[in-house]
Amino acid sequence: MRIAKDELAKLVTLQEYDRVIDALLAVLADVPKQVAALQAESAAEKAALAEVKDRHTQLLLRRKEKELDLGKKEEEIKKHNIELNSVKTNEAFRAMQSQIDRCKGEASAIETEILVFMEESDAFLREEKEKSTALKAAEIRIAEKIKVLEGQKAESEGKLAAERAKRDAFAAAIPGELLGHYDNVRRRRGGVAMARLEGETCTVCRMNQPPQSKVNLAKGHEIVACESCQRILYPSELAAAKPA
Ligand SMILES: [Zn+2]
Repeated sequence: MRIAKDELAKLVTLQEYDRVIDALLAVLADVPKQVAALQAESAAEKAALAEVKDRHTQLLLRRKEKELDLGKKEEEIKKHNIELNSVKTNEAFRAMQSQIDRCKGEASAIETEILVFMEESDAFLREEKEKSTALKAAEIRIAEKIKVLEGQKAESEGKLAAERAKRDAFAAAIPGELLGHYDNVRRRRGGVAMARLEGETCTVCRMNQPPQSKVNLAKGHEIVACESCQRILYPSELAAAKPA
């Protein structure tokens, strides 16, 4: 494809515009990822608190069961104490008395268990309070970070629109066929269409070029592509065209 020397310089400038635009796009693409990571952090804190609350609820249910057991045991003791009045023999009295003592022992054991549950419950309350405070702090911190990110996003979007407008205005001065070729190479080559020839080496893919490439480039009438990566070569002494 034929190309004038000033057009090659324009493509180099265009590449600079595209590099800035791509960097802004990368920043913008990264914002949702960072927001999602922060939201995951907040969700993890919430889940940790919910887990403690859930374990506490389980404990309270077990304590409730124990309190019901204790009530039953106390009823049993009361009933046996009444029965004690109506026993006829000493033997029956002693048997009833020993049953009452057994029930009292069991009631006391249940009471001890309930006390342990109460202490554990206090520990859970403290943990819930700590986790709840940590969650609130994390939520404030995360909301602030997200706000900053959204500010950066808006700023980058503004810059992107301005850079795109500049790029489009500049590209309007480049012949359509040449621009199409540049865009094609750029699309196929990871966003980089232009490659500086340094000595005999393509500075993007680092492959050596045949001597004829340098000669053709010096003539400056045709596009010279890198033999390896197919990018559009330009001589190292070529300065980018000044944008209008
Ligand atoms: Zn190359």
